[in-house]
Amino acid sequence: MNLVEMFHGMTMRIETDVDMSRCCSMATGGTASCVIYPASTAELEEAVWRIRKAGVNVIPAGGLTNTLVSDLRIEDIILSTRLLKGIVIKGDLFTACAGEKLDDVINKSIEHHLGGLEEFGGIPGTVGGAVFGNAGSQGKDISTYFFYADYLTKEGSIRRMPSYSDAFSYRTSPFSKGEIIITAAFRLNPIGSTAQERQKKEMYKAERIEKGQFRYPSAGCIFKNPPLLSAGRLIDECGLKGFSRKGAMISPYHANFIVNAGGATSQAVYELALIARNAVAKKFNIELEWEIKFIGDFPDL
Ligand SMILES: Cc1cc2nc3c(=O)[nH]c(=O)nc-3n(C[C@H](O)[C@H](O)[C@H](O)COP(=O)(O)OP(=O)(O)OC[C@H]3O[C@@H](n4cnc5c(N)ncnc54)[C@H](O)[C@@H]3O)c2cc1C
Repeated sequence: MNLVEMFHGMTMRIETDVDMSRCCSMATGGTASCVIYPASTAELEEAVWRIRKAGVNVIPAGGLTNTLVSDLRIEDIILSTRLLKGIVIKGDLFTACAGEKLDDVINKSIEHHLGGLEEFGGIPGTVGGAVFGNAGSQGKDISTYFFYADYLTKEGSIRRMPSYSDAFSYRTSPFSKGEIIITAAFRLNPIGSTAQERQKKEMYKAERIEKGQFRYPSAGCIFKNPPLLSAGRLIDECGLKGFSRKGAMISPYHANFIVNAGGATSQAVYELALIARNAVAKKFNIELEWEIKFIGDFPDL
């Protein structure tokens, strides 16, 4: 792959031989041969067109707060949408570019007398990642407010995804075929005074800090909750809370979090997750489904 030739004449940020442990919230992972950061829709379109023409695979990424990156070298091009920035507010319609941080979006919406997103206070990551994974908290998902998203198809054309009631479900969105989300629009609730919403949002954020969610590097919940059950509780009931191996630890405060307690590799996190998954399968006959996303290869145990 000749990157100089591939991106010749483009001014977008391009990084090569990137230490991915510095880029993701788990603070693990190996080297990526190339990460690109388009900062506009035009740059995104152009970059993706050139990558496809060269026959190289492209992996979209946001804040990398729900992603485990392999320790093995990644030859695919990672396309970060973190620099796609911008917010437009018209009436109750709040439109944000994929790279906006979800937490900033919540603050901005309240500032403009629009409520609804407060429960998501403190969820790290970007709008693109939140829509892709239908992020949620306190029994509410981002899809509740989703109105539409503009995205780049795998084939390179820009399309609009309107909200269909059945297109999103728990931690699942209609984006699964290599689309790249560019902007997302949310219909929010007009509010008078903003004090209550501001307080509510800060309370949810503070709760996360108090519970220790940010004490160690992590990628949030490893597994989805099975219907009517809690993945964390199932793992806890297998006696695994606090269990650690090769620097990775099942969080003592939330058994569905695996944390990097110091010096863990992504492979160590993955192996510990498999131990938890196997234990739950053996004890409860339940197959836990991954919530985290993976970049690169993970050799099985
Ligand atoms: C301490 C902590 C607490 C957390 N709490 C919660 C919680 O309460 N609820 C919750 O739902 N999650 C939680 N998470 C997980 C995570 O923060 C969210 O899922 C977040 O929405 C992921 O956003 P991101 O930008 O980091 O996505 P990334 O990790 O970068 O990507 C996740 C997926 O989205 C795709 N993606 C990202 N951007 C785009 C784009 N522009 N176009 C297309 N695809 C894209 C990626 O390809 C990948 O498959 C938590 C994580 C941490 C570390």
